[in-house]
Amino acid sequence: MRNNSSRNSRDAGIKRKYGFHNSKSLGQNFLTDDSVIEDIAAASEIGSDDLVIEIGPGMGVLTAAVAEYAGKVTAIEIDRRLIPVLNETLAGYDNVEIINADIMNTDLNQIIAERRPSESDGAVRIVGNLPYYITTPILMKLLEEHIDARTITIMMQKEVAERIMAEPGSRTYGALTVAVSYYCNVHHVREVSKECFSPVPKVDSTVLRLDVRQSRPVEVRDEKLLFETVKAGFGKRRKTMKNAITGLRGLDKGAAAAVLERAGIDPSRRAETLSLEEFAALADSVYQAVTE
Ligand code: SAM
Repeated sequence: MRNNSSRNSRDAGIKRKYGFHNSKSLGQNFLTDDSVIEDIAAASEIGSDDLVIEIGPGMGVLTAAVAEYAGKVTAIEIDRRLIPVLNETLAGYDNVEIINADIMNTDLNQIIAERRPSESDGAVRIVGNLPYYITTPILMKLLEEHIDARTITIMMQKEVAERIMAEPGSRTYGALTVAVSYYCNVHHVREVSKECFSPVPKVDSTVLRLDVRQSRPVEVRDEKLLFETVKAGFGKRRKTMKNAITGLRGLDKGAAAAVLERAGIDPSRRAETLSLEEFAALADSVYQAVTE
């Protein structure tokens, strides 16, 4: 662990000056370890023409690191008490813009469209040490809104990363695994001990880089129906697939068994044993049943 004591004591002074206290409910566990900050910035593969969107800059330690590589950084922070703090900690960077907003209510594609460098081939990179309380909703928003980014490098609770990286048949394999693997190739960057944050959280973390796929790994007739099928499957995790998808788009038990059989899936299997390819075949079989 490499602790930058001069930066950390500067930040403690700035916090005192603004009377800032970390908010537990906003997931404000700030990074204090230099090697982690550098590893996230380096793993993001940021080029000098790239636009970086940072989710939750906190006091700006990661913002400053990515600003060293990027053409422009736009950082979105919900806590308005942090805006004067960030203006001070990032005063030396003229390529950084701070937006005070809730990421969940932000139209990221519009932000990207307005800022993407027009005369260059710069990519968009999303980075963030995500607040624990909202990691999965933020990730699902980025994926479902088809955010026009090349990479998403994010730190999250270790357990969430394990779910993302899970193999079919394992205990942690679920709807999140299937959704992420549909949209992205997953690259494990590093593990991060809870001692690398202030205040120290209860859990360890993992950094992943999600490389957004240029084309989907499976073709489906109806993408929305694919995710409805995945949600139905895992919504009743302990049930057989036949029972889990009964009711999906009005399918009765007999029709549920028939669509599974047509997709080559034994109706007595459980969702955690189905691969992305099998969910895709099943979604197309449901599509056929409800449109024919
Ligand atoms: N990037 C900083 C770091 O690594 O030290 C801070 C990371 S801290 C885990 C998460 C940050 O996200 C906090 O600054 C918090 O205020 C911010 N945040 C929480 N919910 C948010 C939301 N809905 N939209 C934008 N920022 C949010």
